[in-house]
Amino acid sequence: MNTAYVNGEYVALDQARVSILDRGFLFADSVYEVVPVYAGRGFGLRAHLERLDRSLAALRIRNPHDIQSWAALLESLIERNGGGDVSVYVQVTRGAAARRDHRLPTDIEPTVVAFCQSRTAPEAAVIEQGIAAITLADTRWRYCSVKSTALLANVMAADEARAAGATEAILVRDGAVMEGTSSNVFAVVEGRLLTPALRETILAGITRAIVLEIAARDGVDHAEVQTLSPDALAAASEIWITSSTREIFAVTQLDGAPVGTGRPGPLWTRMRVALQAMTHD
Ligand code: PMP
Repeated sequence: MNTAYVNGEYVALDQARVSILDRGFLFADSVYEVVPVYAGRGFGLRAHLERLDRSLAALRIRNPHDIQSWAALLESLIERNGGGDVSVYVQVTRGAAARRDHRLPTDIEPTVVAFCQSRTAPEAAVIEQGIAAITLADTRWRYCSVKSTALLANVMAADEARAAGATEAILVRDGAVMEGTSSNVFAVVEGRLLTPALRETILAGITRAIVLEIAARDGVDHAEVQTLSPDALAAASEIWITSSTREIFAVTQLDGAPVGTGRPGPLWTRMRVALQAMTHD
């Protein structure tokens, strides 16, 4: 797991360098993706690369590669790192200009870096007992649908969750649940599977889309709703969080109170099995 990609070259991770004038470093002027890899193969790679393209377009950063060359680059990186079950992190910044200046430079090349990280299966306790989550006010900038590296509000909220003995913070904006600090949120309310509808303050999670696809395929009563209120969330019989690296976790404690029976629910079990059938296919 020690080969990184930096601007066209594969280098040892501890030798990988970018300029201190890089706008990703100075302004978080950059976007990223995390692609899960199962047995050496990127899962949902195309969907991740399409979202990367949308994030870059939103920030008016030129996409330095087309889908085919992105796929070749990342597949080569995975292979150089020994394949297996890992995740690939890829980041594209606007690049490094000659001087620090808020104004967008027009003549610089984007910086591209990528590396692999281990992706361990969740501990048995997480699967058997679920996780605790807390709700917090969403203090992030508005354009959360852009997968930018401006993650400080997410990082601080995740740390508040940790300090409260929880694994994730679920963010609430204008009286509605948005998403987790690094996950999307689902809730089973009165027997119906609900998730907040996409908008500019929510990331269009790849795992979220797959879960919705499975729900539609398997005839699970579900809906994307404009407002999932914190009260509805607190009354839900099941709550889940989804992400590419964690797949699907059951939230069994919310703000210190049990969710439903306080154990992972039957629909979660069913969805997890269906999701794993896809990732391991
Ligand atoms: N929302 C946020 C804020 C995230 O960081 C993530 C993780 N990338 C997700 C949702 C889940 O997205 P995905 O399923 O594509 O990993």
